[in-house]
Amino acid sequence: MRKEPNLFKVCILSLVFAFIVGLVGIETAWATGTSLKIGLATNQRTGYVFSKSMLYFKDASGKSFKASGKVLLKTNSPKKIYVNDKSATLPLAITSKTPIYWENRPYRGWLQIYPSSQGFNVINVISVEQYLRGVLKMEVNPAWQMEALKAQAVVARTYALRNKGKHSSQGFDLCALPHCQVYRGINAEDPKLDRAITSTKGLVLYYGSKLAVTPYHSDSGGYTANVWDVWSGNIPYLKAQKEPFSYVSPYSNWRAVIPLGELESKLKKNGINLGKIQRITIAKRDEGGRAVSILIEGTGGRKTIKASKFRMIAGSDKIRSTNFEIKGVGKNRSTPTGRLSNQLSEEAVLNDHDGKLLSSLVKEGVFSTEELMDMLVHPERKPHYLRVALQRQSGTKSKTSYYFASSNDNALVLEGRGWGHGVGMSQWGAKSMAEHGWDFKKILMYYYPGTKLKKIY
Ligand SMILES: [Zn+2]
Repeated sequence: MRKEPNLFKVCILSLVFAFIVGLVGIETAWATGTSLKIGLATNQRTGYVFSKSMLYFKDASGKSFKASGKVLLKTNSPKKIYVNDKSATLPLAITSKTPIYWENRPYRGWLQIYPSSQGFNVINVISVEQYLRGVLKMEVNPAWQMEALKAQAVVARTYALRNKGKHSSQGFDLCALPHCQVYRGINAEDPKLDRAITSTKGLVLYYGSKLAVTPYHSDSGGYTANVWDVWSGNIPYLKAQKEPFSYVSPYSNWRAVIPLGELESKLKKNGINLGKIQRITIAKRDEGGRAVSILIEGTGGRKTIKASKFRMIAGSDKIRSTNFEIKGVGKNRSTPTGRLSNQLSEEAVLNDHDGKLLSSLVKEGVFSTEELMDMLVHPERKPHYLRVALQRQSGTKSKTSYYFASSNDNALVLEGRGWGHGVGMSQWGAKSMAEHGWDFKKILMYYYPGTKLKKIY
């Protein structure tokens, strides 16, 4: 017999429904406002999770169970996974009262195991503030001035929220790689950086009614770049500006030697086939002197390309910025190899005389503590530091033939300043501003003029 629903039941049901909608609403607000899904690994077939306390699992069908110790995840059919010997349906949520380890690295928040085309993706679901704790150390040195660290915290927060959903097709918001922002979980946390994050909690940059675009880079080399010259678009606050203070970073001056054969094949791989390269010139510069476009002339034709594209094709680790001069294309003689070029640009060992010279310069106090630390950690950078020290002592910028006297045969030789695309905030520039007493707001307003700081929670 079919019963008519009575009014009381309808009311109760409506209340329950309203309550659920409310909960979902809060959940959604939390998800869109302050939590992020970070992709730790993609297309895995097997791996371990671990926690110092009990691990709780809940699968897509609502089945829940727990396990302790090192737990093996293994998949061999789509959307199904084995948790030790228990079968579960993806996506699978993993929670614990203590940090959860994925492949020996601990993370806050919880993990979601999401189905992918070739297995599963491992996702860390975490609040934005906790996420930043695992990001900042990958970008700045905790020894820097607090205001520079705070500026980085705001920029990284804005970047993360603006780029939320970048990897939505894979089930997460941001990856943990340089493609988005490098994220290392608890292992990357630092008490001083934590203070920079908590003291700027919820602060982001807005332009009009939208989160601002906040690219940043290591060192502008004295003058930042226009976004339209490097990528495209016409974002008014991402325009070329002179750094207010001159500063020195490990990347202030660099030299790149690129064998022409290597360059020709890299261009060809990118669809630019000009035969044997005969001449390379800077076709256009911006107001700061930065290369905007490059004319390449070869036996098979000529082509002008964006300097930023040229940098990416030739290798952004070699051509560290577009803030460079062309020091010549070497004559035809012997054929240097790619390996030779690497040795020349990052010579690993100093000879005896240079070693002694460097030690005496260290004693004279030419280097900052950070530079000394960097030298200890990266002894292969010693030739670079020797060159920097000699330049500082002589007060000149480009007496740089010191290491590369015989290196310009059959190669493109560039000398440049700074590291990175040059758009938005220069991290070493921000450091110099903080050293001159600028607070993080003044630093941000300099690099992103016209944007506004807004506290969103
Ligand atoms: Zn990414």
